[in-house]
Amino acid sequence: MKDQNKIAICIEELIIYAKKHLSLSKHDAHYVRNALMEHFEITAPANNKVEEITEIQPVIDTLVTYGISNGYAKTNDEILYETKIFGMVTPAPSDIITKFDVLAATSGIESATDWYFDLSKANNYIRMQDVNKNIMWDCSGSKGNLVVTINLSKPEKDPAQIAAALKAKTGYPACMLCTSNVGFAGNAGHPARQTLRIIPTTINNEAWSIQYSPYQYYNKHLIALCNDHRPMNVDKDCMTRLMDFVDNFPHFFIGSNAALPIVGGSILTHDHYQGGGKGLPMFTAEVKKSYKSPIKGVVISTLDWYNSVVRITSRNKVKAVKAATYVLDKWAEYNDESVGISCKTDAQHNAITPIARYEDGKYIMDMILRNNRTDDNHPFGIYHPTENLHNIKKEGIGIIEVMGTFILPGRLDSELKEITKYLDGTLLFDYDKLSDSKHPLTNHKDMIKSIIDKVGTNNTTEQAMVAIRDYINITCEQILECTAVFKNTEIGSAAFEKFIINGLGCNSKK
Ligand SMILES: [Zn+2]
Repeated sequence: MKDQNKIAICIEELIIYAKKHLSLSKHDAHYVRNALMEHFEITAPANNKVEEITEIQPVIDTLVTYGISNGYAKTNDEILYETKIFGMVTPAPSDIITKFDVLAATSGIESATDWYFDLSKANNYIRMQDVNKNIMWDCSGSKGNLVVTINLSKPEKDPAQIAAALKAKTGYPACMLCTSNVGFAGNAGHPARQTLRIIPTTINNEAWSIQYSPYQYYNKHLIALCNDHRPMNVDKDCMTRLMDFVDNFPHFFIGSNAALPIVGGSILTHDHYQGGGKGLPMFTAEVKKSYKSPIKGVVISTLDWYNSVVRITSRNKVKAVKAATYVLDKWAEYNDESVGISCKTDAQHNAITPIARYEDGKYIMDMILRNNRTDDNHPFGIYHPTENLHNIKKEGIGIIEVMGTFILPGRLDSELKEITKYLDGTLLFDYDKLSDSKHPLTNHKDMIKSIIDKVGTNNTTEQAMVAIRDYINITCEQILECTAVFKNTEIGSAAFEKFIINGLGCNSKK
């Protein structure tokens, strides 16, 4: 009985919270209370007045523990079960869409997306307690700041797994991005999505939806997804959709991963884009040189960035799309043997990572030139991190990273802590010992040697970590430079300009 009233109080606290933070209507309160009482087999509501609580997580934890101990959910299914409970107090998808539309009409689209962002955090769809586990720091690189994140909230995938995903057979929902995820109960291989609510939007006359990324690799990280499960494709329609998107959401950027393995994203099977707050490092890059484009009313520029970016700027959306498609098509067939660029062998290799945004009345499309060719010396990709950098990152370098926000594998957290012991004198560094392939730090042996050569072994733990981070910062710059199809050398820069002038038919402006 005592537990019954304790759970009844939790139910009441949850309803008060949902009214305030999840826009649960007062007209739905009885309905939701009765559903929760039925689920927890509670026969009477709280017998005392319940006050608003400041922290919802302890309430949810109490309900989850109670539910599992009573057999309503399985042990080890805490997250799935928590999502189910939050899903019960989150208004129906149609209610969320209506509220979003009303807010957009009365207070503007940014207010609507802000409200939707807060809702997505408040019902733990975005689990901020997990996102906050990520270790993140800024580093000042030679061509602008980079952000480095050690990802402790999501497991990693390698390029082979990503490539395999393109062909893999799937069950239901067909993939993580299908709209059929809304309300899905989840299982061991697929997260619960009862708390997911998506917002419809129309781009290029097609039905798409937006949702925030549960991983939040940068501020207001969102995903736009096609309502149909179909493969990624970067073509003229994609360029139009990206520009339509920034018309609908001018406060956000939006970009697509290249649609090829190695240089593409982790999910190639479902057409989708990444977008959100315009705070990513590449947006601060300076224009290196501007050119007159063959399309009137469009300026084509190159950026002073680690990899090879062509920027299209126009006040006219149709012209911006035309120019973007033009660059896409020209790059698709461009070869330059003098710098090893081969657009096609048995398969297409040249690809583009396009990123659109709207600023000061101008449509801007940054087109990062990519190529996924491999050869005997570069089995992972010629424009992929070289093997000496794989101890930090060997996975594909997707849209977020080519823009300067690094998401490094979670394994590094414990490995780096162990490495500090060689730098503060706790452990004696023995290169031969670390060369044993079974040694847990064997992949880092050259990095450790290099750091010891630089700073010695008589550091404090803090100094050791600074030295390690300095090394990682330089590595991240090198990784970005690996992705550059035109290197930042005299020869590379000349070859880049040759592509702009001969390949694209631009004239030098200044
Ligand atoms: Zn899908």
